[in-house]
Amino acid sequence: MKQALITGGNRGIGKAIAAGLRDAGLHVIIGARDPDQGRAAAAELGVTYKRLDLADPTSINEARPWVGQLDVLVNNAGILEEVPLFDGGTNFERSLQTMLQAPYELIRAALPGMKASAYGRIVNVSSDWGSFAEGLGGGGAYAVAKAGLNALTLRAAQDLPATIKINAMCPGWVKTRMGGASATRSPEEGADTAIWLATLPHTGPTGGFFRDRQPIDW
Ligand code: NDP
Repeated sequence: MKQALITGGNRGIGKAIAAGLRDAGLHVIIGARDPDQGRAAAAELGVTYKRLDLADPTSINEARPWVGQLDVLVNNAGILEEVPLFDGGTNFERSLQTMLQAPYELIRAALPGMKASAYGRIVNVSSDWGSFAEGLGGGGAYAVAKAGLNALTLRAAQDLPATIKINAMCPGWVKTRMGGASATRSPEEGADTAIWLATLPHTGPTGGFFRDRQPIDW
């Protein structure tokens, strides 16, 4: 059974991705920083919980042994604070740590196992707010972090063997704590493209940026 980690899997889009990958027959691990919320979501979904706080390098270090066993890694966790780029306290550092540095560390920890088994699927949950084509429109440090995540996706694909696929995706505007109540999509709709990318066949794409299973501009 293939093993998949979804970071920030305790709620929102991450929880919907976890449910979809469970239904696809994977052994799903949700990473969550709050043990109570992580355990509760895992019990509800019938999946495994592991504590993983992406803002805490010690937590990421402690996860390395089991991250090294993964077949599928979904870098989903994110934070969005509506603060100015140059006047947001530690928001810039926390945004880059959570949405760029931590995904990089998790990918690096997962790669030796994925190379050894000649199978890997890495999905970076990004945003059109991180798209140069869209003008990096929104969220200051958030947009910079997502643009960095997109760059990491594109660049990593050039270094990886064909057996490991890495792609970024935008879920659209989704009704979650981040997206708010006015958003137009359900978490399940937002999760669909990530689930597709996490279960791509050998012939599937790598190094792309997708929404609704279609390529979109970087
Ligand atoms: P939510 O705010 O509902 O969920 C965010 C998740 O990330 C939570 O599980 C949260 O955990 C987790 N998280 C945040 N910081 C950390 C951390 N330091 N360590 C571990 N987990 C952390 O957001 P969404 O579900 O909407 O967002 C999921 C992804 O989709 C994000 O990357 C977001 O940028 C992206 N996205 C969302 C859009 C939308 O419209 N909703 C649009 C475009 C992109 P906790 O519960 O502990 O806070």
